[in-house]
Amino acid sequence: MATATGTKLKNFIDGEFVDAAEGETEEVLNPATGEPIAEAPLSTAEDVERAVAAARRAFDGWAATVPGERALALLKLADAIDEHAEELTDLEAANAGKPRNAFLEDEVPAMVDQLRFFAGAARCLEGRASGEYLEGYTSIIRREPVGVVGQITPWNYPLMMAIWKIGPALAAGNTIVLKPAETTPITTIKLAELVADILPAGVLNVISGHGEPAGSSLVTHPGVGMVALTGSPDTGKWIAKAASDTLKRVHLELGGKAPVIVFDDVDIQTALETIAGTGYYNAGQDCTAATRVLAAKGVYDNVVSGLAEEAKGYKTGDTMAADTTLGPLNSQRQRERVEGFLERRPGHAEIVTGGKEPDLPGFFLEPTVVANLEQDDEMIQNEIFGPVITVQRFDDEEKAIAWGNGTKYGLASSVWTRDIGRAHRVANALRFGCVWINDHIPLAAEMPHGGYKQSGYGKDLSMYSLEDYTQIKHVMVSLS
Ligand code: NAD
Repeated sequence: MATATGTKLKNFIDGEFVDAAEGETEEVLNPATGEPIAEAPLSTAEDVERAVAAARRAFDGWAATVPGERALALLKLADAIDEHAEELTDLEAANAGKPRNAFLEDEVPAMVDQLRFFAGAARCLEGRASGEYLEGYTSIIRREPVGVVGQITPWNYPLMMAIWKIGPALAAGNTIVLKPAETTPITTIKLAELVADILPAGVLNVISGHGEPAGSSLVTHPGVGMVALTGSPDTGKWIAKAASDTLKRVHLELGGKAPVIVFDDVDIQTALETIAGTGYYNAGQDCTAATRVLAAKGVYDNVVSGLAEEAKGYKTGDTMAADTTLGPLNSQRQRERVEGFLERRPGHAEIVTGGKEPDLPGFFLEPTVVANLEQDDEMIQNEIFGPVITVQRFDDEEKAIAWGNGTKYGLASSVWTRDIGRAHRVANALRFGCVWINDHIPLAAEMPHGGYKQSGYGKDLSMYSLEDYTQIKHVMVSLS
């Protein structure tokens, strides 16, 4: 097997592990200690050029494989991830600051299952009926891959977002240049080691580097037919504009600000445990995190005090320790960004618990609850992306819906009530790509994940994601 992990990471281009063209590297840190753990290539336009050329060379062969062959490759990759679960867990825990057990128990089985779903889905792509729609002609619908796809992933779920991106793209017959986030390249380069024995050279290429120049060169490269990003709205908007020069297809998952609407007829303890569990999961660095709670006036006080109690139950510290339940922020920059929201809070806001840096190395922040917030506050309107749960009080259903919908985001949401009519009324009225009723965050590989509004467009997971990575061709045959 080709190898590239260890402390000196390499790009993966055309089936080979290589240094960046200009030879530059950058330290990669463990966010739980702040110490360097590896050195990653700093790719430039030249590396993008080489990777896109390799992906183009590989495209005709990969696109011509039958679905069963692509499915087999994805099944082998699922098995390889399963077999390397412990090693991948150690790498991701160290590089992304994830509590080890959470990654091993939650993310690894999910990724393996998702790859197996994409393998099955590769064999089930369909168009609408072919047939005779004009006398003397047969029309055939073909579903074809887009070409070379540029995929850009974030640092909150580095390996899982790589799987969500490459799974449907490979299943549909595309070839790929994948760029992980600059702070978290390690498991994506390990993924390249795993595919080196499974996929033909050039089908999946991985280049490490920053948004500028590596990411932007991928976005503007004329040989790339589609760009997919999971990241911030600013980057998504820049990509949509930059991609318009070559009219690339764009697929964007740009985060969220999930409202969690709690009515006063719920089983409050279950709601509190779920909200804290999914609000503080991954230190709140999750685009669907249950961090914007809207509580009915009858339960507001109990929600605030109950969440504060839950927050105190989290254990921060060594991400390798079995009892650690809350990891650090991904970088000093991200911790400062989150602390900035707390420092700029308006006078009416109350930090009920947390808000400080614990006495630990690395980039930790205490699990935090902020109450008494108002709809126009910055903390309600913008994604905080840290272990901070906000709580607002609402008077009636109409206000809950208006406030729930009242941000630029539209990715995920939840409504908590035992009244089935109200649950459906609210779910129908919420303008989000996903609404959970009496739960928050469970995902199924068969079901789509993707936003409304400025959370972006295009779906991850499900058959819809495969469709996003295909284009439709009409072939019309004269019968004369
Ligand atoms: P970002 O959008 O800058 O980074 C995401 C990815 O985009 C990284 O791989 C980065 O290198 C790449 N990128 C950045 N600029 C690019 C460009 N011009 N062209 C191509 N690729 C580019 O996000 P960030 O600055 O690391 O985080 C900022 C905020 O974004 C966070 O606080 C959070 O609110 C949000 N975020 C959301 C998600 C999500 O899951 N949707 C993930 C990460 C961050």
